[in-house]
Amino acid sequence: MRILLIGPPGAGKGTQAVHLAAHLSIPHVSTGDLFSEHIGRGTELGQNAHTHINAGALVPHEVTIGVIGERLARPDTEHGFLLDGFPRNVAQAQVLDGILADSKLGLDAVLDLEIPEGQVIRRIAGRRLCRQDREHIFRVDYGPPEVAGVCDLCGAEVYQREDDREATVRKRLEVYRNETAPVVNHYRAQGLVTTISAHGQVHKVLHRALDAIGQGGADAADTAS
Ligand code: AMP
Repeated sequence: MRILLIGPPGAGKGTQAVHLAAHLSIPHVSTGDLFSEHIGRGTELGQNAHTHINAGALVPHEVTIGVIGERLARPDTEHGFLLDGFPRNVAQAQVLDGILADSKLGLDAVLDLEIPEGQVIRRIAGRRLCRQDREHIFRVDYGPPEVAGVCDLCGAEVYQREDDREATVRKRLEVYRNETAPVVNHYRAQGLVTTISAHGQVHKVLHRALDAIGQGGADAADTAS
C-alpha cells in the first residue's frame, strides 16, 4: 500500500506512522527523520535544514525533493510506503504525483489526522524523543519513560525537540494552515482522503486509521499495546 499521513504538529502523526507501518509491513518514510539523520551526521544538507527547522519553517523545496527522491528510489519502497511529513505543500504533492505517475503507480489512501488547534500546544509541550531513535516517542503526561530522561527501549537520552518550543510551534501551525492544509484538498479532489480524529489513546486512533484503509481487525490494537 502507498499511504500518506497528514496532520498538524501535535496530532500524533509520528506515533501513528510507526504503528501503521509496522502493522502494514511497509517502510515508514519521514522527511523529518531524514533531515534529522543528516543533522546528526553533520552534513551540509543537515546544517541547512536545521536552520529552517528551528525557525518552524519548511526546508527549501529543492533540498526536500532531493532527500525524498533518493529515499523513494530505494528498493524497500517497491511494494509500498507510509509517507509521514511529505508532501507538506502543493508543489511537493505535484512532485510526488509525478514520481508515482512515472512508475505508473498511485496512492491508495491519504489519512488526514484532525486535532483542535487548542490542544496542539499542550500536546507538543509534553512530547519527548529519544536522542538515538526518533521513533521512540514519550509523553510526560501519560506514557513517560520509566526512568526520567532515559529511553525505555534503548537507554539513550530522552529530550525535547528544539522546534517543540511554544513560539516555534505557533509558527509551524501557521505553516500548516497556509501550506499543508491545501494538500488535503489537492488529494480530496482525487477522492483519496479520509479525515480521522486524532483525539484519544494511541490504539484508538490506530483503529480508526486501519478501518479507514480497510485493514481494521481484531489484532489491530496489538501493534500499539
Ligand atoms: P516533522 O518531524 O515531520 O515534524 O518535521 C520536522 C521539521 O522538518 C518540520 O517542521 C520542517 O521544518 C521540516 N520538514 C519535514 N518535512 C518537510 C517537508 N516535506 N518539506 C519541508 N520541510 C519539512
